[in-house]
Amino acid sequence: MFAEVIIDIAHANVDRLFTYRVPEHLNISAGQHVLVPFGSGNALKEGFVLSVKSDFDTDFPVKDIIRVMEPYPVLTEEQIELAGWVSRSYHCLLVEALRLMIPARLRGSRVREKSERTVVLSGEIPYAEMLAALRTSGGKALAPKQLEVVSLLHNTGLEMSVADIRAYLPGAASAISALIRKGFILENEHVTFRRPDYSCRRADTPVVLNAAQQNAVDAVSEAVVQQSAETFLLHGVTGSGKTEVYMRCIDRCLKSGREAIVLVPEISLTPQTVGLFRARFDDDVAVLHSRLSAGERFDEWRRIRLGRARVVVGARSAVFAPFSNLGLIIIDEEHESSYQSESAPRYHAAEIAAHRSRSFRIPVLLGSATPSLLSYFRAQSGRYRLLEMPERVMHRPMPEVETVDMREEFLAGNNGIFSRKMQSLLRECLDGGHQAMLFLNRRGYSTFVSCRSCGTVIQCPNCDISMTYHKHGNRLKCHFCGASRPVPEICPNCGKPFIKFFGIGTEQVEEQLQALFPGVTSLRMDTDTMHHKNAYQQTLSAFASGEYSVLIGTQMIAKGHDFPNVTLAGVVAADASLCIPDYRSTERTFQLLTQISGRAGRDETPGKVIIQTYSPNHPAIVFAKDHDYKGFYRYELAQRRHALFPPFSMFVRLLFSGPDEEALFRTGEQYGRNLEAVLLEHLGEEGKNDLLMLSCSPAPIQRKMNNYRYQVLIKLLRTKRTADILHLIYDYESEHRNELFATLEINPQDML
Ligand code: ADP
Ligand code: ZN
Repeated sequence: MFAEVIIDIAHANVDRLFTYRVPEHLNISAGQHVLVPFGSGNALKEGFVLSVKSDFDTDFPVKDIIRVMEPYPVLTEEQIELAGWVSRSYHCLLVEALRLMIPARLRGSRVREKSERTVVLSGEIPYAEMLAALRTSGGKALAPKQLEVVSLLHNTGLEMSVADIRAYLPGAASAISALIRKGFILENEHVTFRRPDYSCRRADTPVVLNAAQQNAVDAVSEAVVQQSAETFLLHGVTGSGKTEVYMRCIDRCLKSGREAIVLVPEISLTPQTVGLFRARFDDDVAVLHSRLSAGERFDEWRRIRLGRARVVVGARSAVFAPFSNLGLIIIDEEHESSYQSESAPRYHAAEIAAHRSRSFRIPVLLGSATPSLLSYFRAQSGRYRLLEMPERVMHRPMPEVETVDMREEFLAGNNGIFSRKMQSLLRECLDGGHQAMLFLNRRGYSTFVSCRSCGTVIQCPNCDISMTYHKHGNRLKCHFCGASRPVPEICPNCGKPFIKFFGIGTEQVEEQLQALFPGVTSLRMDTDTMHHKNAYQQTLSAFASGEYSVLIGTQMIAKGHDFPNVTLAGVVAADASLCIPDYRSTERTFQLLTQISGRAGRDETPGKVIIQTYSPNHPAIVFAKDHDYKGFYRYELAQRRHALFPPFSMFVRLLFSGPDEEALFRTGEQYGRNLEAVLLEHLGEEGKNDLLMLSCSPAPIQRKMNNYRYQVLIKLLRTKRTADILHLIYDYESEHRNELFATLEINPQDML
């Protein structure tokens, strides 16, 4: 037997298959993780077997596989196919695509599993003797299960937990006992799985689905059972009970003998959601996200791979979970930008889900209160099936939303952070024994520091942005590179002592809240206060327990939380996200405000929302105030069509970066012009209007961490030619790569 192996080295020169001989004593199948001699020096390298074949014609000597690293294949056949597709679609190395599917700790020197009851082959009895004892003289298996167990253990020579073996080889329990009695295998104690701790687990109260929920569950369950590769878009307002719909669909999926993946945007921010799934599905749930320790991640992955967990709740990368009988993929809050990977390969979780949906012939369920414009557009055009839940559960009303025009507030003599209306609503909420959440999209104390005399704004020495004042520690910090410096007493430019702080941050909100409501208990949640691993969870539990009255935070607290006692949600300044120069800023602001207002009034007491703004008539604010998603959609789609923005077009950005400004600009410009010529030639007379724009210019943020940045920005009309053009750009990039080239992004989440 021969095996086609890809070596675990991310380099274009070795990103292909190498053939190895499989020695007699090894049992190798596709997906196995192996150790092989590589290169002229025969250094030992890890690799993955992608296929096996029985003959191989060559004049060269073929090297032997040394050993397997895990007894079972670490990749499924479907994942191998998926990796090939990822590498072709996103133009990355095959090995980079494969690495998405396995925990980092499986590669290189690794953590081993911690024990449960484990078994290992006895060193006393030779393997051949065991095989002989388990077969007739004619070679037929006397005890097939025992043979399987012995060869599984023999493959690695490692210890393996009994539960893992039983999960992997169903019905192996008695074979294991028999082998122990024969003395073929030895029993040891105690590996355990490092399980992430979820103290936010909640009581699971049974509910009766309302008609809209039932309708959604029926449609999706039907597709699960019928094995239909459809995509559903569940548009359910905040508090409409989407989570319950997800859980019922998963239940149906498990009952039909299949597994399910649930993606949530930032899992560490929503431990409550995980708690709910744990309460419902217990140990069948595995959790995958970036805040797990490497050991926890490895163990959770192993529970999935070995069939011990059949539901995965996880962040973006959990879409690759190693199930072999997948039945359903759910993407909650599908509009969230965190589903798009920020590093190569720049996949979007929904694209991976769509591919797996075709492979397994299973439905995908996208859910949101504020679907992305693109998804809703697809639902309108019939590509997705729309499911709607327009009302909150138990006929609870949507919260009443008010806007306050901060210009008028200023004219009336109030130049504090809180408008009079906000103050009175806060007082009412607190006096009633309820809780409030206050949002501000800026951490720190003030946004920038400048000189009132000459107007100089204090900039980061390494980046092209202003530094932010953090009262805690009394320093200026750069939010890009983390540089910090003490606050200057005099202006570094004119030398005058007129340094002033502008803009407000979360720290200042907390301070003014304390001044207005002395003694009020408050918590602040932003990236400054959330350093250690369990900080989110502790803060959220503390707030949920009712110990604190007010939670102040950046957008990280806007999503998904279900705190029944919160009756007031206040947006301190809605304008910050509207000012960002990006074609999506209206959409993002609308989504954020809608999500925030979804936090209030989720229980019996109706909720109130107050939005402070300098532009109360902006459509993003007006539609959010009226809870009018469809109105927003029609308005925004018309804007996009008019300006030919996505979904009617597509942006491609090539970013260059380097320390020498002049060389960078020259190279970038030249590159852009050459690429333009290639594209125009390819498009010809018929297609040349597809290229709506190709601009070469310094990036909006011209310098980051002491490197200058330059971009070639391409805007393409979406036509039947678009996919071809993308491949052409990718190919051009890989043929003309130069040392200043940094990234190629398609519809990047930010274009700064
Ligand atoms: P969404 O995710 O749509 O914002 P949730 O799934 O968080 O809404 O549901 C809001 C609350 O309503 C939760 O506490 C949930 O337990 C409860 N709930 C869900 N479905 C029902 C139902 N049919 N009847 C009563 N309560 C329900
Ligand atoms: Zn910086």
